[in-house]
Amino acid sequence: MEQITIFHKIRDKQIPADVVYEDDEVLAFKDIHPKAPTHLLFIPKHFVASVAELTPETAHLPGMLILKAQKFAAQQGIAGYKLTFHVGKEGGQEVPYLHLHFLAEQVLE
Ligand code: AMP
Repeated sequence: MEQITIFHKIRDKQIPADVVYEDDEVLAFKDIHPKAPTHLLFIPKHFVASVAELTPETAHLPGMLILKAQKFAAQQGIAGYKLTFHVGKEGGQEVPYLHLHFLAEQVLE
């Protein structure tokens, strides 16, 4: 059975988050414990636990998240940023719901 994580609840609007971008495929919100002046998390609306759980059917999701982050950065005028996927507990992943960390020194307007 699919384990319900905090990101399911944010996706389903059961708990609040500081959402900065949303469309049919993705939700992006501010990380509650930012590690850079701008620290966002991009999650797919379609649940996958981790990069380690990807299959041929879901392998497009990380690329889709990266493209959304790229478009978001361009729209916001953020010239440079870091993108990270943590994979598994041993890789520093606390929330077992695929997410892309977006970190930038530039503050979001
Ligand atoms: P990870 O360690 O890759 O699983 O990252 C999970 C991230 O989610 C951490 O950076 C947390 O600070 C962040 N986080 C946890 N709970 C929330 C929340 N309710 N709203 C926003 N960010 C959260």
